[in-house]
Amino acid sequence: MGTTIPKAPAARKPARKPAPKRPAKRMTPRDRARVDEIFARFATATPEPRTELRFESPYTLVVAVALSAQATDVSVNKATDRLYQVADTPLKMLELGEAGLTDYIKSIGLYRTKAKNVIALSRILMEQYHGDVPLNREALESLPGVGRKTASVVLNELGVEPAIAVDTHVFRVAHRLKLSTATTPDGVERDLMAITPEPYRTRAHHWLILHGRYTCIARRPKCESCLIADLCPSRELFLGA
Ligand code: SF4
Repeated sequence: MGTTIPKAPAARKPARKPAPKRPAKRMTPRDRARVDEIFARFATATPEPRTELRFESPYTLVVAVALSAQATDVSVNKATDRLYQVADTPLKMLELGEAGLTDYIKSIGLYRTKAKNVIALSRILMEQYHGDVPLNREALESLPGVGRKTASVVLNELGVEPAIAVDTHVFRVAHRLKLSTATTPDGVERDLMAITPEPYRTRAHHWLILHGRYTCIARRPKCESCLIADLCPSRELFLGA
């Protein structure tokens, strides 16, 4: 007996154009050595950084990352711990339905829009990908609620493609460390990808997020206990404050 997919009009969005490329940032030998040392210290301190979002499969990762926009990982984990007990596949999510899903995620910001997107992307996965998550950027970014940042997190976390997704933490840390002066997340991402040594690219996203979340925090960065303080051009700004 075949499986019936709960019906509803599936919203599609056009595939995003890739961000325009620009020449790799030129670095002096001194800058190169500084950047290498920053990442070497992160690697020594946290050799295997992981996302703090809990997931068991590509699907639960995509949903968790989509839910995490403008929300903390803690709040998403709290919701998905319960949600994934009843809906951890696209089919089960469709059976739960938008109203049922909303009940599980209503503690998360923008939950109404996120519920619509998760249901719509689940339907597309069932109808076009046999319930699997397509692990390529173009297909991922065409899913409702999945932008460049979400796709980057997913592809990087699953080891498909090194990517440095730029959220508010990564943006702030990159600027304070003068790793980028770009004014947009896409620009910062390009700068970071251009200067991050290849062996560190898959882990750089996690290190920068964790550093921004726990040490280089927005209001009063903990420069006195920062493991890269001697390599940071912004340290004096805050230590004297
Ligand atoms: S020294 Fe301060 S400003 Fe620089 S990276 Fe460390 S915590 Fe952030």
